[in-house]
Amino acid sequence: MLIVHSIEELFTQTAQFNGSIGFVPTMGALHEGHLSLIRQARQANDFVVVSIFVNPTQFLEGEDLDAYPRKEKADAKICEFAGVDVIFMPTKEMMYEADELSITAPAIRGFILEGAKRPSHFDGMLQVVMKLLNLIAYNKPTEFRAYFGKKDAQQLALIMQMVKNYFINVEIVPCDIVRDSDGLALSSRNVYLSKEERTKALALSRSLKRATELVMQKEFKVTMIQEAMLEVLKEVDVEYVALVNREFQAIDEVKIGNTIMLVAAKVGTTRLIDNLWI
Ligand code: AMP
Repeated sequence: MLIVHSIEELFTQTAQFNGSIGFVPTMGALHEGHLSLIRQARQANDFVVVSIFVNPTQFLEGEDLDAYPRKEKADAKICEFAGVDVIFMPTKEMMYEADELSITAPAIRGFILEGAKRPSHFDGMLQVVMKLLNLIAYNKPTEFRAYFGKKDAQQLALIMQMVKNYFINVEIVPCDIVRDSDGLALSSRNVYLSKEERTKALALSRSLKRATELVMQKEFKVTMIQEAMLEVLKEVDVEYVALVNREFQAIDEVKIGNTIMLVAAKVGTTRLIDNLWI
């Protein structure tokens, strides 16, 4: 496995790749969630590239850019063990210049939920994903796949839309959410949680479980489900509880096979998101 720190080195490596590339973009502090993406990439492709880049343009003023966990050595070990071929670790200087062209998230899907709570976050996310896709596929692999977690459901939907709108030659592979045994969705930000907060944070996955139970009992009304979820979320600081279809449009009734239930909440100072696809 090679760790490359420059675009030139990256291109030298990918020029030697004669086959498909599976690409997993991350911000590092890797956990089992990332690992499941890497495993899927490993299984389906000749070469696997993981990027580790804490992208400044997707953080808002006052968010945790500087505090974001950085664990380069452990990440390298995890990648090596998982059979990654190349880790790409660029600096912000090589990714951005001062006067940049920008991408704006679509007006509806990009500005609800996470887009409403974190204005401009998706613009920065789409910008870096566009750059990374172009960089990794620069030497025209025979096939190119990029792996994203359903954990960031709205992100995934917007990336799929960007790929479609900009005719980018990549297959986006959505990957299931990986959870701890107690139900908490894995996230690099979970390290911020104290023991007490971690217990409180379980309300997020419990609220989704409660919603699923209701659907199983044939309660399809979104308002009823939201109410029941909020009841479970009483002890955390809820930012939103939403049910949308796979296109991220508002719905009144759950349709099995075309619904995503989402929750965002703050536990202490840590902002957590979770969702469930039914
Ligand atoms: P991040 O490092 O947080 O930017 O995440 C990198 C990728 O890993 C994104 O596509 C995330 O959706 C995905 N990911 C993060 N946590 C999980 C999880 N618990 N299960 C599945 N995928 C995840």
